[in-house]
Amino acid sequence: MPNKWSYPPANILNRVEGAFPGNYRELWEALQAASQFPGAELTSWYRDPARNRGAGGAARSSHLLGLALDLYAPNLDELAQHLREKLKNYTVSVQVEQRPPHVHVQALSAREAQSPKFLELLRTFYPGRY
Ligand SMILES: [Zn+2]
Repeated sequence: MPNKWSYPPANILNRVEGAFPGNYRELWEALQAASQFPGAELTSWYRDPARNRGAGGAARSSHLLGLALDLYAPNLDELAQHLREKLKNYTVSVQVEQRPPHVHVQALSAREAQSPKFLELLRTFYPGRY
């Protein structure tokens, strides 16, 4: 499994933190929690549109703004359970995905992902694409 994740670029970090305060902090907590799980590794974080397409991501994926992480461990269900337990005080969602096998941790809520604010940010950073 390739391990070539990218940190969100500073301009995106700054704007998105202003628009959705606290979301990156939740991902940071998720990383901390993952670091306590044997064999867990970060496989994807920020993805630009080309990379997102290559990864089979949704058109409006949270990865486009660095608001989701993908993690891998040999036992995905146990990893997901560990993360949900550690992150129970946060609003992140933790989802086991099979193609390819990983745990998707998303800071952006379903409601935020549908918001005009989210679309506006996508249009700001990827003009002409959204
Ligand atoms: Zn993901």
